[in-house]
Amino acid sequence: MLPILHFIFSLLLSSLFISKSNFLLILLLICAGGFLIDIDHYLIYFIKTKNFNLWKGYKFYLNAKHGRNEHVLQIFHTFEFFALVLISCLFFPMMLYFSASILLHYILDILENIFTKNKDYVKVWSILYFIIKKKNSQAF
Ligand SMILES: [Zn+2]
Repeated sequence: MLPILHFIFSLLLSSLFISKSNFLLILLLICAGGFLIDIDHYLIYFIKTKNFNLWKGYKFYLNAKHGRNEHVLQIFHTFEFFALVLISCLFFPMMLYFSASILLHYILDILENIFTKNKDYVKVWSILYFIIKKKNSQAF
């Protein structure tokens, strides 16, 4: 999904909490979870191309001409990462805002994958699954 849409949905989610006294912190946490976790797209781009130009990384994903059907591990888009965030809520209750925005982000990404036919890559939603799949593919 386009980053601007994630940002807009993050703002919409944070608007639910506008009356809270710590709204700015809530806004930051929600924007971090709903918008900034897509930084893992750029991490993959940086690793693949050794190019640190954010704009070129953005265009790389917009053009979607890279690695069709390639299984891609986006570290912040995994069950394991989300589980860590949920566990952190036990110790830091404010992380609930962060986890809620991540959940919204995941739902938007899943809806995009369902409703768009331009699937440029296959997102792997588990680090464990990715490791097992890599090991199995190297065995043959
Ligand atoms: Zn995403």
